[in-house]
Amino acid sequence: MAVLRTRIQNPQSLARPLVRRLRPYAYGEQPKIAGLIKLNTNENPYPPSPRVLRALKAAVDGRLRLYPNPTAQALREKLGRLHGAAAAAIIVGNGSDELLALAVRAFVEPATAGGRAGGGGNVVQYFTPSYSLYPVLADIHGATKNPVHLKPDFGLPAPGELKRDGRWRSDAALTLVTTPNAPSGRGYTTSELEGFCRAQRGVVVLDEAYANFADEDAMRLAMTFPHVIVARTFSKAFSLCFQRVGYFVGHPSLIAVLHKIRDSYNVNGLGQIAAAATLADLDYYRANIKKIIQTRQWLTRELAGMGFQTFPSRTNFILTQPPRFTAEEWLGKLRKKKILVRWFGSPELKNYLRITIGTAAEAAILAKAARKILGQ
Ligand SMILES: *Cc1c(COP(=O)(O)O)cnc(C)c1O
Repeated sequence: MAVLRTRIQNPQSLARPLVRRLRPYAYGEQPKIAGLIKLNTNENPYPPSPRVLRALKAAVDGRLRLYPNPTAQALREKLGRLHGAAAAAIIVGNGSDELLALAVRAFVEPATAGGRAGGGGNVVQYFTPSYSLYPVLADIHGATKNPVHLKPDFGLPAPGELKRDGRWRSDAALTLVTTPNAPSGRGYTTSELEGFCRAQRGVVVLDEAYANFADEDAMRLAMTFPHVIVARTFSKAFSLCFQRVGYFVGHPSLIAVLHKIRDSYNVNGLGQIAAAATLADLDYYRANIKKIIQTRQWLTRELAGMGFQTFPSRTNFILTQPPRFTAEEWLGKLRKKKILVRWFGSPELKNYLRITIGTAAEAAILAKAARKILGQ
């Protein structure tokens, strides 16, 4: 490219200092290696239902020139019927990631702008470990991060324990809770989440990306508390990562605030069609979820027999401490056998591998590879 000579030496200097300093979100790899067993980003191993694929194909024609429905109206009405909520209690996003970012922008003052009375107006609060996007969203916004440790078994501290923690802030403008937790897979009961929500004065988002793999969810709290939002996604349980569709359920007044600041056409038309068709074929997905849970139980037992220590999971992945070699060494050894899992190098997670639950056949290949690596 022929760049014109100007007085600008370094184009990066044109960016805000906050953005120049920013450490972006670290994605799980999406390599294109033939025959690779991909168990690193919690994608669903089963394809979308045939009805969803048909609906998508039928929609690909000259109508692509038109803008989609700006509020995903038809999809929100269907979601409302599913959850027993009004369409006004729902906002759909370009993945739930987009909505998490909107929540930060809507509910949290940047630290530089000064806070609301009470002081927690600048604070994005979340547990560690949990979804590693949260601190990045806070940084992008220039908010104050308040990470609070989960218990050593990744349990949620009780309200009394939080009070003693000293770090915890009941006045945080926004608190993000991954439930069931990622990357540990641990589930929380609705009653412990309820106690937690009662103690908070700001907005609480219960990020239920994996709730369909658990035996309990906290949707009821979004219906009863005006400051609680439940986040869901079509990515994990409904095999639609590619289409980017997620949604929030909450009090209509709170949801209205988010509608004000979203992009006009934030959810692409094919995504809306795919998600709506998904809701018309839920039995197909329930059967897949059941298979994934069975495979999760099978794999956990197999790995236990080899000396892996795995946390009980309520999700479509497990967090496990491997025997003999370090977790980082296991990552490399499995990769050589064309099996990709996730390793987080952070101090609290460096001894573990996070393994997405694939098909039963993929789990069997993984178990066999692990046995080989251990010389069994
Ligand atoms: C995958 C995931 C999301 C993001 O879902 P999208 O709808 O694909 O953006 C949000 N939260 C958690 C905890 C996740 O694991």
